[in-house]
Amino acid sequence: MAKRKVYKLPKYEKFLRKKSAPVKKVTRDVRNLIQDLVDTLDTLDGVGLAAPQIGVHSRVALVVVGNKNGEKPEEDEEEVGEIISLIDPEIIEASPDLERSYDGCLSIPGLQGYTRRPTFLRVRALDINNNKVEYYFEGFDARVAAHEIDHLDGILYFDRLDSLSDLYYLVPDPEDDEKVKFLPYLDVHPEFQATPHPMPGMPTTGVKTIAEE
Ligand code: ZN
Repeated sequence: MAKRKVYKLPKYEKFLRKKSAPVKKVTRDVRNLIQDLVDTLDTLDGVGLAAPQIGVHSRVALVVVGNKNGEKPEEDEEEVGEIISLIDPEIIEASPDLERSYDGCLSIPGLQGYTRRPTFLRVRALDINNNKVEYYFEGFDARVAAHEIDHLDGILYFDRLDSLSDLYYLVPDPEDDEKVKFLPYLDVHPEFQATPHPMPGMPTTGVKTIAEE
């Protein structure tokens, strides 16, 4: 199998906003798709990846669990996250309370958003042998699982922001090469302040990413 191209904004926003089709039965094609997702994610600094992000509108996504702070473990660290494949995932229970923290996305390079996400999720899905299985995600894992399942419904984390004031560019910290700094999106693009929102609470479509600059 192979590493695939990651579909990014702004070019593929329309594509990424389409709902993916159910898998229903795990065939060889589905297993190949999972392997492609694994091979692609393996080369990237990410903790999850959904099939539409590699150009396939099929309800399949990966979640790397065990990343407490959102950082992918270094290779020499003992605990490398386990990859969970979610096939036709269905959220059967979510925490009533939402927690605010940051979402990043491999399809939206250079930006992070301060979103509201459940603190735990119970998810029913198929495993690669077509068995129904249940997963329980909590903390950061629940955040990642919710983000990836959103991708299968054509939802981007922009849609989980209260407003564009919660969107930030990650830029190099001039005082420390090793660090990044959060630069408010609206400081860079004040013209978006006035953008009418298509839905209450939803920032906009056509947000500019660094990739476009
Ligand atoms: Zn994403």
